[in-house]
Amino acid sequence: MVDVRLDGGSIGAVVPGGTLGPGDPDSTLELDGFLLLPAPADPHAHLDKALSWGAIRPPMGDLRLAIESWHAYSDQMTVDEIADRARAQALTMLAHGTTAIRSHVDLLPGPDPLRGVHALVRVRDELRGLLDLELVTLGGYLTPAEDHEAALAAGVDLVGGAPHLAPDAPAELTRLLEIARQRGVGVDIHTDESLDCDVTLDVLARAVVGWTAPVSAGHCVRLGTLDGPRRDQVIADVLAADVGVIANPITNLYLQGWDSDVATPRGLTAVRALVDAGVRFAAGADNVRDPFNPLGRSDALETAMLLVVAGHLSVDQAYAAVSTGARDVMGLPPARIEPGARAELLAVRGDDLVEVVATASLDRYVLHAGRLVALSETHSRVAAPALLPTYPEAR
Ligand SMILES: [Zn+2]
Repeated sequence: MVDVRLDGGSIGAVVPGGTLGPGDPDSTLELDGFLLLPAPADPHAHLDKALSWGAIRPPMGDLRLAIESWHAYSDQMTVDEIADRARAQALTMLAHGTTAIRSHVDLLPGPDPLRGVHALVRVRDELRGLLDLELVTLGGYLTPAEDHEAALAAGVDLVGGAPHLAPDAPAELTRLLEIARQRGVGVDIHTDESLDCDVTLDVLARAVVGWTAPVSAGHCVRLGTLDGPRRDQVIADVLAADVGVIANPITNLYLQGWDSDVATPRGLTAVRALVDAGVRFAAGADNVRDPFNPLGRSDALETAMLLVVAGHLSVDQAYAAVSTGARDVMGLPPARIEPGARAELLAVRGDDLVEVVATASLDRYVLHAGRLVALSETHSRVAAPALLPTYPEAR
């Protein structure tokens, strides 16, 4: 038990419980029965795609099918329609505790490729003070460099893309890196999102040695299929270049492996090996209720749970990947429960982290920059009064 004092947007003191005495009730949260955690950050979202499953009604299937469904729908999307879905998704994530989001945003085909960009820049402005939102361009290999550059000029922070979908993946990767280098911005590349593509993660790592702008690689599915010696070679390149790796368990579990009806692969990157090697590692909820994943609760505790059961991380490692590790990969100031750190905090009902990740109670308080920005309370009744005393009180 500890008392935590906040000084503005930072943590001022962490002292034994009871030390600070009763505070002003208007500016004190009593968190008995709650676990206080560094708030989650989501390093890989697609707010422009989120919550479109119902409108698109796509068939279930793999990445290729999802992209086809998305592109067939994209010419119907307006800035307002994208912004409405993106805002709803961001606020749900905030209610669950995520106070920083990095979202990719598609450069769309057709006469106005920046519809998604304008929508997400608008949402970022609307939600300023509630959460931090970083944006990354996402274009195909036919997307001209001018569209990436126009998106950066319109307020997008980083350059991204999906070279594994190009006929010449290294050439597309090189093109994206050059766009970023010329503008002096970082990159976050959808990398090797396939069980059997050529490996480009090491190509990326070797190309960015010495960069000061942030570099991260998402998915890295292919890495998880390599034999140990080859995998470790690639990881050595990733470490040498200090590239952050972002796993996206729910989407990869859904999209990968449709061709294998026996011993279906999980499609995750080499989660365990990356963490053991000391690579800067994070994980995101990625697609939520869109053609790339029909489900998802927009909850970092769901992503952490999947890293444990499908990636074999410890619960502590899994929560780090969706909170402090994610902030590190995103280049945000640290948020830990110690003096001087930013007060990005999530309190969840539960006694310890295992219980919190297992139950994912929706009883939560969320603080961004020291301010309470979301509060959720649940109420349950069970029609068995004689049995209630055996159940933990007031849960
Ligand atoms: Zn993605």
